[in-house]
Amino acid sequence: MEKVLLVRYTEIHLKGLNRPYFERALVDNMRRALHGLCPKIEREHGRIYVRNIAEEDFPEATERLTRVFGIHSLSPAAAVDKDWETVVSAALELMEKRLAEGGPARSFKVLARRSDKHYFMNSDEINRELGGRVLDRFPELHVDVHSPEIKLSVEIRDMAYIYCEEIPGANGMPTGTAGKATLLISGGIDSPVAGYMMAKRGLTLNAVHFYSYPYTSERARDKVVELTKLVSRYAVEIKLFLVPFTKIQMTIYEQCPEKETTVLMRRLMMKIAERIAKEDGSMALITGESLGQVASQTLEALCVTNDAVDMPVFRPLIGFDKDEIMDIARRIGTYETSILPYEDCCTVFVPKHPVTKPKLDDLRASEAAVDFSEMIEKAIADTEVLVIK
Ligand code: ATP
Ligand code: MG
Repeated sequence: MEKVLLVRYTEIHLKGLNRPYFERALVDNMRRALHGLCPKIEREHGRIYVRNIAEEDFPEATERLTRVFGIHSLSPAAAVDKDWETVVSAALELMEKRLAEGGPARSFKVLARRSDKHYFMNSDEINRELGGRVLDRFPELHVDVHSPEIKLSVEIRDMAYIYCEEIPGANGMPTGTAGKATLLISGGIDSPVAGYMMAKRGLTLNAVHFYSYPYTSERARDKVVELTKLVSRYAVEIKLFLVPFTKIQMTIYEQCPEKETTVLMRRLMMKIAERIAKEDGSMALITGESLGQVASQTLEALCVTNDAVDMPVFRPLIGFDKDEIMDIARRIGTYETSILPYEDCCTVFVPKHPVTKPKLDDLRASEAAVDFSEMIEKAIADTEVLVIK
């Protein structure tokens, strides 16, 4: 008996003529995710089969695939010859295992699907026959066609595939099928979630982080590298640009009106991120901003921030409450790292009374009063690039 992972995919079926392109991207991403586990991946009739995974690697392979966007669900399945007695004994073995390991159950249903139309029984007959054999063997069970505790699926294709587990996938679109965008990543809770959400829509990510050494520590930087690594488990590979921001930040602090410092800093971050994004072939910026969350995220402040760049800025969390964002962070595994207490450069120089309704003309004037151009060039020139996988 061979064990395979049967993979169902998502919205790709909507993509018409582009469908093969999306399917290929999904398979490539799966192959990368399964690196080191020697998978053989086959695509066939709207399904993907992962073969050749060693028995002991199955949990690891399954876990990694639950983070690949574009996968709707996964089922570890037994693949056996279509000979009826072979199918029955594999199904009974699987039921036995399920009852022993998956907790008690009283009801079941057989769900047969037959894409081999020459098979000697049709789906109804398979349901009835196999259902009877299961009842003979496990008399404590009964059939419940509406809400069974165990769904025993049998698919008759080139071989017979038998399974009773359906593990939810990450859904979304395969990473890399929607172009590239640049995530402004801080050490906070929000931006890693924002990156995850846009990667889920198929974007390739790169990321920009601004640090203000020595006001922010080496550990704060390590934390951002770690967060980027956690997001890259979903986003395949992320190029991380680490931009030294101390000089610009100190200049803003010393030469600009105190209450405007946060919004000015955000404008300069956006400008530099846009430059890096364009040079690296990104078409949009992504931030973790959420309307009204802090003074720099009022509608007025967001308009002033937006004015600094020409690129589209995606803010996937704009309508989310903090609690909702934290829930996603926990689910995707970034929360624990995000709450480590190292400073971000945004939190080092916080004005006592930040403007909550900045006026665009005022902010433009304050920014124009200082010549930042050389500082921007220097920051970009001194930027360090890491490729995070
Ligand atoms: P986060 O939890 O992502 O840090 P936040 O609620 O703390 O967000 P801000 O500090 O105002 O909000 O930052 C808003 C957004 O600006 C962040 O979500 C992120 O996209 C970007 N940002 C903030 N600080 C940095 C930084 N040091 N480097 C890069 N981007 C940053
Ligand atoms: Mg922050």
